[in-house]
Amino acid sequence: MWEIRTMSRKLLDKRVLLTHFQKPLALRDCPSRDLGVGLGLLNSIRIPLKFWDLTWRCFHGKLCVRDNLKCRSSEERGCPREECGGLLESMDHFLLQCPFNTEVYNRVGASIHWPGLAGLSYAEWAYGAFRGLGGRDRCTLFLVSLVVRYHTWNARCLVSTQRKILPVDEVVRNILGDLVKVRSLEYERLGTGRASLLWRGFSFSVP
Ligand SMILES: [Zn+2]
Repeated sequence: MWEIRTMSRKLLDKRVLLTHFQKPLALRDCPSRDLGVGLGLLNSIRIPLKFWDLTWRCFHGKLCVRDNLKCRSSEERGCPREECGGLLESMDHFLLQCPFNTEVYNRVGASIHWPGLAGLSYAEWAYGAFRGLGGRDRCTLFLVSLVVRYHTWNARCLVSTQRKILPVDEVVRNILGDLVKVRSLEYERLGTGRASLLWRGFSFSVP
């Protein structure tokens, strides 16, 4: 126990990855141009602390989806959501295919006027390698995507640990609530001129 308290964050992460994960740290579908941009986004001071950990894990392909974890037989690697009928819970499944999440993306995308949210690729979710910015700021798109993922991940964990199913409506409301908070903190911190430039192209409020 004393070891954990004195261990550096980097070392602790390395131990966790070696002990619990099937594969070592690796980036997937990440050409070097995306890596540079992605690392810049990952280290942006605009990412609030509460979202950072999950963002880091996703960047490195290390969300605790069942297919990533050791000590599970093939039957135990299925998505915890009943509607998925035991389909393998890979990073792709969680980010791109799980129907609960895609419904959330559709609803949030429509609410914030970013319909592209529903069709993001793995590289866009993980590294912020957005193919089209649509006149928006790349880091803001990344920020919005990681707030969405934070809530879909928490909703997924409630299913796997407590068998609790949050309605899509509630998850969407929580996402919009956090987006409003993140945006207003940036308005306070950066001033209206700079913040409105960074948040251009988005329009939303808490329902
Ligand atoms: Zn699923």
